[in-house]
Amino acid sequence: MDGVLVTGTAAVSVAGECGRCLEPIEFPVEIDIQELYLYPGAEADDVEASRIVGELIDLEPLVRDEVVLELPFMPLCREDCAGLCQTCGANLNADPEHSHGDRIDPRWEDLAAWRDAQDN
Ligand SMILES: [Zn+2]
Ligand SMILES: [Zn+2]
Repeated sequence: MDGVLVTGTAAVSVAGECGRCLEPIEFPVEIDIQELYLYPGAEADDVEASRIVGELIDLEPLVRDEVVLELPFMPLCREDCAGLCQTCGANLNADPEHSHGDRIDPRWEDLAAWRDAQDN
């Protein structure tokens, strides 16, 4: 009586980047929406109530809010993404054999630097 109840399903495409390798990714998200849009003059206790503007209903804020709730905590380009090399940042998906040889234990690095300084 006071407005239009919108219900339905929205299928959207979300673009972002992989949480491990930072490559751009795009994936579909489907959400159910339901919201009452009040007529412009309708009284409402809730000042934030959605309203019809002119003769139009803008669904974007509603869809955006719902999509955000559906987003994964850490989106991945694929389930077994190898991520980036912790030493040089190379993408390990492109180069699975990537290595820096036998690296010294990082806890000894300062000591090794000190030893090299003594040698010189
Ligand atoms: Zn990735
Ligand atoms: Zn590396």
